[in-house]
Amino acid sequence: MGFKVSSAREKLEVDILFVGAGPACLSGALHLKNLLENHNQRVPSAEKLEVSIAIIEKGKDIGAHILSGAVLDPIALRELIPDYEQTDVPLDVPVSEDMIYYLTGQKHFRLPFIPPSISNYGNFIISLNRFVQWLGKRVEANGIDLFPGFSGTKLLFEGNHLIGVRTGDKGIGRNKKPGSSYEPGVDILAKAVVLGEGVHGSLTKQAIKHFNLDQGKFPQIYSIGVKEVWDLPSTSDIPGQVIHTLGYPLKHEEYGGGFIYNMGRRLSLGLVVGLNYKDPFLDPHKELQRLKTHPLIASRLKGATLAHYGAKALPEGGYYSLPKSYFDGGLIIGDSGGLVNSMRLKGIHLAMKSGMLAAETLLHGLLEQDFSERTLGIYSSLFKDSWACHELYKVRNFHQGFENGLLMGMLNTGIQMLTGGRGWKDPLGHCQGHLKMRKLSEYSTDRSVRHNSIKNDEAKSFDKVTSVYFSGTKHEEDQPSHLLIADPGICQERCAQEFGNPCESFCPAKVYEIISDQNDQKKVLHLNPSNCLHCKTCEIMDPYQIITWIPPEGGGGPNYINL
Ligand code: SF4
Repeated sequence: MGFKVSSAREKLEVDILFVGAGPACLSGALHLKNLLENHNQRVPSAEKLEVSIAIIEKGKDIGAHILSGAVLDPIALRELIPDYEQTDVPLDVPVSEDMIYYLTGQKHFRLPFIPPSISNYGNFIISLNRFVQWLGKRVEANGIDLFPGFSGTKLLFEGNHLIGVRTGDKGIGRNKKPGSSYEPGVDILAKAVVLGEGVHGSLTKQAIKHFNLDQGKFPQIYSIGVKEVWDLPSTSDIPGQVIHTLGYPLKHEEYGGGFIYNMGRRLSLGLVVGLNYKDPFLDPHKELQRLKTHPLIASRLKGATLAHYGAKALPEGGYYSLPKSYFDGGLIIGDSGGLVNSMRLKGIHLAMKSGMLAAETLLHGLLEQDFSERTLGIYSSLFKDSWACHELYKVRNFHQGFENGLLMGMLNTGIQMLTGGRGWKDPLGHCQGHLKMRKLSEYSTDRSVRHNSIKNDEAKSFDKVTSVYFSGTKHEEDQPSHLLIADPGICQERCAQEFGNPCESFCPAKVYEIISDQNDQKKVLHLNPSNCLHCKTCEIMDPYQIITWIPPEGGGGPNYINL
């Protein structure tokens, strides 16, 4: 199977198509291949199944768009590749020390103990993007077709049944007309499509809307994680040290915290901020710069140099926000399906497990030769019986417990731990995060404290443009903007007055700028789409919900290394 340049739209047929080469889809494809091999060994020749499996990925290489903290719980890896310890799997460092600190502006207080349910002993600090590169190689070695550089832009239906995915055209100019390098996208037709394209995936959004998959569920809520990787001047004598922080630089009313993971020669440093904050001037990138000024963090960065930067949103609504994940012709897995344990700040093992459960469902569909909702519905019972579901159920009210700030959140967490996740009310419930943002007239905030207290010294603190440089982000410049603003007038007038244009703050890549027009008469919105890190925060946190993120030309975006 291969893609040819042609002026007509090509059609390709595969049996199973996975969208997104993250841990969910790579694990799903590999597990399906293993299940098929086992099946074929057990049955006579006439009953053997020959199944073509393909994965498309919008990043230019496998792993280029993949970012996570990341501390990996190897439970799913052990199930997928039981002899993983005998392989060259890049599990950088086993966790050797696990600590939680509460930070004030200058001081730190270590929590006296870490509950076993969130302990990291037995886990590994990894670079997720190197981990998926390794998994991708195993997937390819098993005869699965991997196609990086192809974004899925449209779901294809026959009646109400999903039958495939259209990939994005290439070579469309900024004027929205085909240029000399025009290459139409391909219609990839499949018996089943598995959507594992990460958080707030564009095809997943189409599927949720088309099949009404979020009916009766609580809305999804999100956080944004901004992360840097630092090269240390010499090998650390505390490799494997894992630190999580609460408090500074966030206000008590804001959900989130910092992390610093020691990988021996490198440090992962980041900040997670709940995307349900009130302060319209909250800027996660700037808060990360402020975190680095704290003595506890600054002392660990002595002599270190910044190597990499990235950002992504995380789905944190948990159990009660999981969409229905099966429908006629497809499944939703991983971050796309909302599978993150927000208490443990982990989703990789859940993503991998969901991919494996999808594979078991698909084998059932292949044997039944039926990929309708009725057959794919066994995914739901497989998931409910799995450790992944049990784990999520125990923390079903965790993020919601912080709706009234850090202290109430800590109290709720304690009660939830004692009551198996129930807490004082179950479900606690929540609304969409952007509805929490307060108008300037309703909220007392000081932009100068949050925005100007950091000196960008280009040694430890950076402005957004410099940070974007460290993400390796590149897009074809001559293409239409992949950020669609339904009504720019709202940005320039209503939003400017009511919220002070929070897009300038929440975007971690300076994609949104309010500048003076040519005549210096009025303020207008200026977009820098080529900076975009594909984190999806703007779609999530825009108070008017008028921003739509669509995939840019395949291959564009960040080029994450060691993140
Ligand atoms: Fe993230 Fe949106 Fe900014 Fe891109 S434009 S980096 S998706 S917030």
